[in-house]
Amino acid sequence: MSASETIHVDGVWLPAASGDTREVLDPADATIIQLVAEGGAQDADAAVAAAARAFDGGAGVWPRTPVAERAALLRRVADLLQRDREEIALIESRDTGKTLEEGRVDVDDVTNAFRYFADVVTNESGGRVVDAGSADVHSVVVHEPVGVCALITPWNYPLLQASWKIAPALAAGNTFVIKPSEVTPLSTVHLIRLLVAAGLPAGVANLVTGAGVPVGARLAEHPDVDLFSFTGGLVSGTKAGQAAVAGAKKIALELGGKNPNVVFADACATEEGFDTAVDQALNAAFIHSGQVCSAGARLIIEESVRDRFVTELARRAERIKLGRGTEDGVECGPLVSQQQLDKVEAYVASALAEGARLRCGGARPEPSEVRPATGYFYAPTVLDGCHREMTVVREETFGPILTVETFTTEDEAVALANDTEYGLAGAVFSADTARARRVAARLRHGTVWINDYHPYLPQAEWGGFGKSGIGRELGPTGLDEYRESKHIYENLRPAPVRWFAG
Ligand code: NAD
Repeated sequence: MSASETIHVDGVWLPAASGDTREVLDPADATIIQLVAEGGAQDADAAVAAAARAFDGGAGVWPRTPVAERAALLRRVADLLQRDREEIALIESRDTGKTLEEGRVDVDDVTNAFRYFADVVTNESGGRVVDAGSADVHSVVVHEPVGVCALITPWNYPLLQASWKIAPALAAGNTFVIKPSEVTPLSTVHLIRLLVAAGLPAGVANLVTGAGVPVGARLAEHPDVDLFSFTGGLVSGTKAGQAAVAGAKKIALELGGKNPNVVFADACATEEGFDTAVDQALNAAFIHSGQVCSAGARLIIEESVRDRFVTELARRAERIKLGRGTEDGVECGPLVSQQQLDKVEAYVASALAEGARLRCGGARPEPSEVRPATGYFYAPTVLDGCHREMTVVREETFGPILTVETFTTEDEAVALANDTEYGLAGAVFSADTARARRVAARLRHGTVWINDYHPYLPQAEWGGFGKSGIGRELGPTGLDEYRESKHIYENLRPAPVRWFAG
């Protein structure tokens, strides 16, 4: 396989049918890491055809492979991920800009996702017996794979988002075509190699590297795709989702977020509580330079503690060590691309024009030994004095920008936290357990943390209210998305019905 043969169809690594390639850049210095195949609609069609043959209406090899064998394959993939942990963490760090340590955490999370879905399918019984109200009827609901799945992933957590789709898709017995982000395709290429090494039959896992349009768009509309699962932005997701729904496919959309982090004054009443809430707010907003769908980008803080809290937050944000993610001691890498950097700069400019007060950041940092001038670095930025009408508060910036809004009553805090078209995640910090739980119950978000930010569990569903998406990944629901339910009703004492007399 040459470096640019990154399309995988029917067990074979290929260049793009057109011969086109794309440069994958290291965001820390804008140098080329690798050339990959720039696939097109023709490559997407070939990949879907391979996946359809491998599925073959349920008569293919993979859908009929016993669950125990499918689970064993997922566990072998998990072991291989751990074997290649350092190599994959490095690929992910160079491709996305995240730190090596974040890359390692991603590999561990991905490993857990494969193990979790192996366990879930293994522990299930053969079907759910339904009481039909008659001893003469045996009624059972069984699960079957949906068919050919088209899986589209974003650039911020390429391997992780791919695993949340691939692991349940395979556990359920589907075949698939994945299209990773054109900005960060490299770890997905490696993952497909591991699936092959683990013994997955040819044609079950297919990969087309290339742009959203035409490759993703072709997969969304392709008549032989049965399920379309997309993680990415609201605009491209709804567009692709419309094309998929037009063909009556099953769809799942994991879209953006504009996530509130609500901090009550009582959380800051002790030095330890204050330190914890500030530290968590920093982590919520700036990990992976804020390029996280669940980033706590809106700090919603009780007015009485605002000054002290924001002063300490800005002091610590200024000290975050920015640099190439592979360097020792670096805490935040660059943004993923020039386009993302331009977007973040425009959001900060709009916020300042709309009256926000800059407490720290707001500019590109000076270049240094670990921060090449050609890299897409942007300083962690805290904007105080924000209100919900500001563009920077309403839209997902997907960068290291934290906005600060204040409240004086619990109702006001809840109203602010829910005032977003999204609804992916949010947090509440309070020393008053009853209040924290009360507020958590009122937040219209798919994940709510109490006195914490960012942890998630493969056993618990992930996804959003509102425009954060349709459906859930992870948890038992994350497997059900990839299955059809079939009711088998068996009459044990067949006899004429005589509905018609003649
Ligand atoms: P994006 O929407 O630009 O791209 C996502 C994927 O969709 C890419 O593979 C892209 O090539 C493809 N695509 C683009 N247009 C398409 C089209 N018309 N048809 C089919 N595919 C198309 O998103 P991004 O910039 O890569 O990622 C950032 C976004 O992803 C953010 O909004 C973030 O919140 C979201 N995200 C959400 C979750 C979640 O769990 N909800 C997780 C990670 C990222």
